[in-house]
Amino acid sequence: MKITIVYDNEANAGLKSGWGFSCSIEAKEKILFDTGDNGENLIYNLRQLNIQPESVAAVVISHNHWDHTGGLREFLKFNNNAKVFHPKSFSKPTEISPGIHSTGALGGLIKEQSLVVNTEKGNLVITGCAHPGLETIIEKARQLGVIFGIVGGFHGFSKLEELDGIELIAPCHCTQYKQEIKQKYPTQFREIKAGSVIKI
Ligand SMILES: [Zn+2]
Ligand SMILES: [Zn+2]
Repeated sequence: MKITIVYDNEANAGLKSGWGFSCSIEAKEKILFDTGDNGENLIYNLRQLNIQPESVAAVVISHNHWDHTGGLREFLKFNNNAKVFHPKSFSKPTEISPGIHSTGALGGLIKEQSLVVNTEKGNLVITGCAHPGLETIIEKARQLGVIFGIVGGFHGFSKLEELDGIELIAPCHCTQYKQEIKQKYPTQFREIKAGSVIKI
């Protein structure tokens, strides 16, 4: 199971950075989660990372903010066969691909879905901006099994003790308290940006 960060506010050399988030999940099928804020940059990064847009089976949009939906229209020019899952699609956890579940849309004003990916070590949770509150997402994800890791935007999440027992903590994008999380969980913390690869 391989996760590649495709788009983030920060990027490795040779990739474009921009305010937004996108990652690919390679399990039984290849899934793209979110599309960053700019389609040309998204396609550029995908090609640089050798993830051909044409090979993606489904696109999951976490929530309807431009920094997550911005690249979708451009992406669909290269692949209009991919299934697109918007957050309003589900109100409860649903399997969207073998071993990959959506939490269903959570939150009040801003509806957002996160992914729960089965791995050999437990479930990996992938978030867009975590607007519903990371603690709410964690609680929902735990209904699907033990959480091994969390990757993505944590937004203003500050109840850090909720991360106790999670072995891989990889905050990026809009995470406000990244330094505090790193200090509290130095061995579990993983620095990620566009181009980072997580293999489990
Ligand atoms: Zn957002
Ligand atoms: Zn965002």
